[in-house]
Amino acid sequence: MLLSPKSACAIVKDLTQNCALPLAPEVLFRTQLLRHHSHIVIGDVALRGYKHKARWTYDDREVRRAGHALAELPVDFDDLVEAHLPEYRDHDPQAWERSDWRRQLRSWMYDAAFHKSLRERRYGEDYRKIGKNGLPGTLTMDEFVQARNDMLHMHHIAGTKPRGLLSWSGEHWLLPRAYVELLDRWEPLDDDLANRARICSGCSTQGPRWAWRTPTTNGYVTLCPPCSGATYQSYEGHLHGVLYDSLRRTMRADDYLCRLCGQSRAFTWDHCHDHGYVRGPLCASCNTFEGKGVRFLERTGSVLHLLECSGCQARQTLPSRFHTEVIRAHLEQTERHGRCCNRPHAEELDHAHGIRRFVLHCHQNRWTRDVTTSEAADLLRAFIATALASRWT
Ligand SMILES: [Zn+2]
Ligand SMILES: [Zn+2]
Ligand SMILES: [Zn+2]
Ligand SMILES: [Zn+2]
Ligand SMILES: [Zn+2]
Repeated sequence: MLLSPKSACAIVKDLTQNCALPLAPEVLFRTQLLRHHSHIVIGDVALRGYKHKARWTYDDREVRRAGHALAELPVDFDDLVEAHLPEYRDHDPQAWERSDWRRQLRSWMYDAAFHKSLRERRYGEDYRKIGKNGLPGTLTMDEFVQARNDMLHMHHIAGTKPRGLLSWSGEHWLLPRAYVELLDRWEPLDDDLANRARICSGCSTQGPRWAWRTPTTNGYVTLCPPCSGATYQSYEGHLHGVLYDSLRRTMRADDYLCRLCGQSRAFTWDHCHDHGYVRGPLCASCNTFEGKGVRFLERTGSVLHLLECSGCQARQTLPSRFHTEVIRAHLEQTERHGRCCNRPHAEELDHAHGIRRFVLHCHQNRWTRDVTTSEAADLLRAFIATALASRWT
């Protein structure tokens, strides 16, 4: 029997009533995640999504198996083992190329510490320094557990919520043994599904992770550009680090598929106007969309595309025309007038001598906030890190 996400979620909730782990069965509603490899993995059970009459469904048997497996997991909170979280790396694009729960947990800690340091405007201090409680910066355990509470993908791994389960021994991070074993079973399962989803179903060529996933009426399939009917080559990044002005006339962008959508024939070599480097071939529609600031930044793959400029990549920044939007969005999210809980509206008033002055207003109050060049650079780096992190789930 096929179940709607709503019934599937209700069944998992029902079966796991007595499960000791904090769970996130609502991940079954995030059907956009099925783009990755057509499954949502709960615990160590993969639930395949089936698209049926334009709606996503799950197989009743798999849903129940996942629920039972979690319900029967013998979690003993006195039987703790070391979690072996890796050291944090600021920027590691390879990291997102595989499923890795330990790295994920570590990056959440730094993400929370970083945002706290921004909120409290501790710009000079190093938020990466590990405190007595094992967390970076001045982060408390409660703050870590609560941080980004509105973003499910920053809280769940394998349909479980690990943040609150961690405890610090004074030297190591600990987790219940049965839970570590569960995540260690989840990891190769998820990785294997992701790798299988790289194989073109037409010709069996292996593509980059996620890139060839194509929506159809029956769900997602993996099709390389030739098999999907295109006759143009896909761009493999051979002009990375090449200046746009040094391109020869003979290098035609329209020999390639658009680097961003991978579907249409490109018409221009997109390049960074701040640093001059080629980012890749774009089709007309993606190129127009890129002019749209934040809306473009919200699109999957857009930040990675902008980082194709070797100048932006080396500095972990974005072209300057995106800066105001990133800062404005951050201020609206974090600034409040005293105890007023209204989200203010922010506008850039002035940009002189490296200081950007923003004016914020809620219903009655109006105030200004200055953002220095180094704050702006930090915000950009945080924005990039978050964009890269959310790409993963
Ligand atoms: Zn193919
Ligand atoms: Zn395109
Ligand atoms: Zn130009
Ligand atoms: Zn650039
Ligand atoms: Zn107010």
